[in-house]
Amino acid sequence: MTSTSTTTRSTWSNWAGSVTARPVRVERPRSVDEVVEVVRRAREEGLRVKPVGAGHSFSAVAQAPDVQVDLTDLQGLEHADPGTGRVTLAAGTRLHAIPPLLSHLGLDMPNLGDIDRQSISGAVSTGTHGTGLDHGGLATQVVGLTLVDGTGRVRTLTQEDPELAGAVVGLGALGVVTSVTLQLAPAFVLRAVERPEPLQHVLESFVERCRSEDHFEFFWFPHTHVASTRTNTRLPHDVPLAPLRRRQRLVDEVLLANGAFAAACRLGVHAPSLVRPVNRASARLLARREFTDRSHRVFTTSRRVRFHETEWAVPVEALPSVQRDVDALVRRHGWRISFPLEFRAAAADDLWLSTAHGRTTGYVAAHRYHREDPGDYFAAVRDVALAHGGRPHWGKMHDLDLGTLAGLYPRMGDFLALRDLLDPDRVFANAYLERVLGA
Ligand SMILES: Cc1cc2nc3c(=O)[nH]c(=O)nc-3n(C[C@H](O)[C@H](O)[C@H](O)COP(=O)(O)OP(=O)(O)OC[C@H]3O[C@@H](n4cnc5c(N)ncnc54)[C@H](O)[C@@H]3O)c2cc1C
Repeated sequence: MTSTSTTTRSTWSNWAGSVTARPVRVERPRSVDEVVEVVRRAREEGLRVKPVGAGHSFSAVAQAPDVQVDLTDLQGLEHADPGTGRVTLAAGTRLHAIPPLLSHLGLDMPNLGDIDRQSISGAVSTGTHGTGLDHGGLATQVVGLTLVDGTGRVRTLTQEDPELAGAVVGLGALGVVTSVTLQLAPAFVLRAVERPEPLQHVLESFVERCRSEDHFEFFWFPHTHVASTRTNTRLPHDVPLAPLRRRQRLVDEVLLANGAFAAACRLGVHAPSLVRPVNRASARLLARREFTDRSHRVFTTSRRVRFHETEWAVPVEALPSVQRDVDALVRRHGWRISFPLEFRAAAADDLWLSTAHGRTTGYVAAHRYHREDPGDYFAAVRDVALAHGGRPHWGKMHDLDLGTLAGLYPRMGDFLALRDLLDPDRVFANAYLERVLGA
């Protein structure tokens, strides 16, 4: 029997600073056996266990009531099969660590979200996604996983097991995932075109462009008529690269996207009347750039300005109406919103709790600077999204409970039954899970 590294931690906080926890203890297991030991010991003591990844969820999904399981020491490539393009990664592996692990295999993750700081298990557990109608979220890349369930039993699920579709977007409610096996794509390059365009034109062409382009998305600054579009085209891995120069990337992302934007947000807090002119100026200055680079360098950027976020999945055809409804609400309430909204799309999938379950999906994400109260604005975006059959991103802020969620997820009953099987004593419960899944 090995012994895990146990510490006490005064206070844990998520990336946005919106959720804190004071766990009784923090365990850092280094092996599957140590995870088993952590779960069994906590169960015997009547304590609840919560695995945590990189703490990048805005919701309280990762909040540890008693024992926090930090997977920092469970990282790396466990197995690779270049023939099938399948790799098994330890659950705590950070997304940014994956491309270097894959480069000698000629493989890439088929799609990614906006950033790469998350852990692979945290990202798939909440249904993290990028954009592109031919591609599902990261969880759709999972073809197998191993977890330690609430009784301390190690279970491996493969595509032969129907429960895999339930366990992948598991919200940390079913067990501590110790490894995931991903189906990857042959390495590819992306050509990115970013430019400002008239909002009206982008709304009218959104669904068609999502269908015709590999990866299409846009940002919209409230109080403006401009959309900042981003179109990524997949190219073979051996085309010549034309990456952003390091200096240009630094200027665009660190100074303009993050530094100047942070200053604008701070200004908005102290002088709300300036939000509209500042947004209009920002929209005029929006990036117009083209570059070609390895896929992960194009998909992801750095986000240094702290914010709160809510995101909703609706049928993709509804997304232009959602934008118009949100615009009307912002005008009606006279709100000054400094942060842009982001609009993306993803393929339908069959994962039980995936936000794209059973329907081709459009996503609307609303943000608020972390020093501003997101309450009324996020509630209004929620109501707009719900009117269009919206499902909330599990890792982002929302206040729905099981009563509403059960009507949005046709396989919710199956998920609850799987939870009863894998975690009968609710070792992995926390307040968030009690709200969205019931006791
Ligand atoms: C700046 C920023 C940008 C973002 N961009 C996107 C985006 O583009 N697209 C998108 O969809 N989302 C995005 N997100 C949300 C983010 O991807 C998700 O919230 C994701 O779950 C965070 O991963 P994490 O490793 O930090 O997990 P955590 O937040 O630490 O945990 C999330 C959940 O996973 C569970 N979990 C973690 N590890 C395990 C494990 N080993 N076993 C079982 N359960 C586990 C936790 O218990 C918890 O329930 C963004 C977040 C931030 C802060």
